[in-house]
Amino acid sequence: MSALVPLRAQLASLGSYQSLQAEAEVRLNTNESPYPPPVTWQRALAEAVGDVDFHRYPDRDASGLSRAVAALHGVGAGEVFCANGSNEVLQCLLLAFGGPGRRALVFEPTYALHAHIAGLTGMEVVTETRGADLRIDPDRWPGAIERADPDVVFLCSPNNPTGRTEDPDAVAAVVEAAPGLVVVDEAYGQFSSWSALTLRGAHDGGPEPAGDGGEPAGGPQPAGGGAEGLVVVRTFSKTWAMAGARLGYLVADPQVVAGCRAAALPYHLSAQTQLAGVLALRHENEMTERVRKVADARAQLAQGLGELDVETWPSDANFVLFRPRAKDARDVWSALLADGVLVRDFSTREGLEGCLRVTVGTPKENERFLEALAGALR
Ligand SMILES: *Cc1c(COP(=O)(O)O)cnc(C)c1O
Repeated sequence: MSALVPLRAQLASLGSYQSLQAEAEVRLNTNESPYPPPVTWQRALAEAVGDVDFHRYPDRDASGLSRAVAALHGVGAGEVFCANGSNEVLQCLLLAFGGPGRRALVFEPTYALHAHIAGLTGMEVVTETRGADLRIDPDRWPGAIERADPDVVFLCSPNNPTGRTEDPDAVAAVVEAAPGLVVVDEAYGQFSSWSALTLRGAHDGGPEPAGDGGEPAGGPQPAGGGAEGLVVVRTFSKTWAMAGARLGYLVADPQVVAGCRAAALPYHLSAQTQLAGVLALRHENEMTERVRKVADARAQLAQGLGELDVETWPSDANFVLFRPRAKDARDVWSALLADGVLVRDFSTREGLEGCLRVTVGTPKENERFLEALAGALR
């Protein structure tokens, strides 16, 4: 006789990881781009989709897309793995290199899906807290790595939901010290002044990391430079304004890429998704322009927040973390929603008590948010 079985323990707390998809006039809760992708991209995609042989399976290795991503970053196509959003990238990576008997290290507060997906594959998740500036703490991370001896270390730069980019020297030092993979999630990488992709150069004799005050080029590094385990993850969801398309990728050693391909379901990336990505990469200038516009709007938003009774943290991404000083964060969140503005509530997350996060919108949306917040704080 069949019967229902209980949900796996790792899924029981899923609700707390999911962002509310509520109706609101101004939605500033999931760090999407406030601007749609270029109209020329939409037209090109519609036309190209008309030519797809939909009775055939798509290119299993997404080779055209991988080549286009590789060209964008100046790496080989064999160093690129693409999937349905960076979350699926992480899932494939951890199915391949995580699993029972292996350990992941995360620095909280950070993107909740890192620990969640690691746990889903059966990994043990070890957490270390961040420093007072909400970046990884140089007094604590070396000990944390030594104690945990992790198979996978997660960094997030700029970090979601706190907003700061990690220091290049710190990331280089983590890559040097970690015994296994170091995953740098750069979902907001285009907003940042540097990318961990520059650290990968070291292992094929390329340029040294920017701002590296450590060893001189060609210094006493082990053969291979110790950067083989560096995995940089990016997404089209945020800066590329394509959250609805579901496309992300990683850049890593070809052996890591081969592991991800082995873990992914065959033909996981549809023909239209692959096309969407290839065509988007022909619009790099428009995307860069969107990033600039959002960065300008972020300055406007930060200035407005600075005039209200809230504590804020500097942001290198398209969102700002803030904490109402005199009002309960949950009440402020509800008042904002009642006023048609949806932001993300982190007030019950450890290390983020009383905090809310607002995504940078269009200048008009930011004005609406600031007005609603001023009202909610009154
Ligand atoms: C939004 C976000 C992602 C994106 O996930 P997709 O599956 O690519 O939409 C990944 N990592 C971080 C840190 C994010 O904030």
